[in-house]
Amino acid sequence: MSEVVSLPVKPLIVIALGGNAILRAREKGTYNEQMANVSATSANLAKLVMGNFRVVITHGNGPQVGNLLIQHAAAQNQVPALPMDACGAQSQGQIGYMMQQTMRQHLRAAGSVVDVGTLVTQVEVDAADPAFAKPTKPVGPFYDAATAERMRSQGYCVIEDSGRGYRRVVPSPIPQHIVEINIVRALAKAGIVAIAAGGGGVPVVATEAGYKGVEAVIDKDMAGSLLAHELDADLFVVLTDVSRVCLHYKQPDQEELKSMSLSQAHRYLSEGHFAAGSMGPKVLACMKFIERGGKQAIITNPASILEAVKGEAGTVIY
Ligand code: ADP
Ligand code: MG
Repeated sequence: MSEVVSLPVKPLIVIALGGNAILRAREKGTYNEQMANVSATSANLAKLVMGNFRVVITHGNGPQVGNLLIQHAAAQNQVPALPMDACGAQSQGQIGYMMQQTMRQHLRAAGSVVDVGTLVTQVEVDAADPAFAKPTKPVGPFYDAATAERMRSQGYCVIEDSGRGYRRVVPSPIPQHIVEINIVRALAKAGIVAIAAGGGGVPVVATEAGYKGVEAVIDKDMAGSLLAHELDADLFVVLTDVSRVCLHYKQPDQEELKSMSLSQAHRYLSEGHFAAGSMGPKVLACMKFIERGGKQAIITNPASILEAVKGEAGTVIY
């Protein structure tokens, strides 16, 4: 009688990459700059793949999609501008391409033949999400007052952005479901490094005829949290440019957190330790993963990821 041997399944990690992994503050955003940053991040992620983990990656796209919107607006007299959802899909392709190429280079250098692939991913949002009644997220180029007025008459929501000019604002609805989740799951199961739901995913709403794109942006940390939940990942990791989350950040009594429970996270959040536009959404995304049954989430920087999964770096949320 032949014995049935069940091989241990490699743990699955979903990683959400912050904007800094692709483009740093004070950089112009040239292709070479973006490639160099992506390559440095990929080197760290490749170590994770070599360390016997299955990896699914998601990433931000703020500067990239912002630049696309500026290009489309500037050239609209020559080429019709594309809507935001199509620009989001474009940016998924561009960033996914850079990651695929650099990940492969680093994996190859380490002697690995693991495959890497990007999936253009739609993320369902609720058409009745209150965010649609109150757009908050500034996107695209800055306009002067006259252009802002003209755009308002065309039905766009335009606000004055901290003295720098006028900008369009779009809704940031809560992600409900990763439309292509079965495909991401199949890729992860096959041991393929999948890059999915880039930029928080292309936001779509369900209609009688199927999904349709909408002008909105989904928070990439929240989409990453949902991706990790729907894949039943063993670990959700948010990578940004700090190695640990802090209390009293940038104050004389700043304190790095090695870990925090869900209830501690709730308390620190209500005490205002995590800024709304930066660390707040990351902590919330980790909390959501745990609330939905996830075991562990970690916030750290790309260079610390290998130590962090061994419990030697980063901030663990449990
Ligand atoms: P990303 O672009 O990677 O998504 P953000 O710049 O939006 O990241 O957010 C990460 C930043 O949050 C850190 O660089 C840090 O300056 C800031 N931050 C705000 N509050 C905290 C905190 N309590 N602990 C650590 N960093 C914090
Ligand atoms: Mg950011």
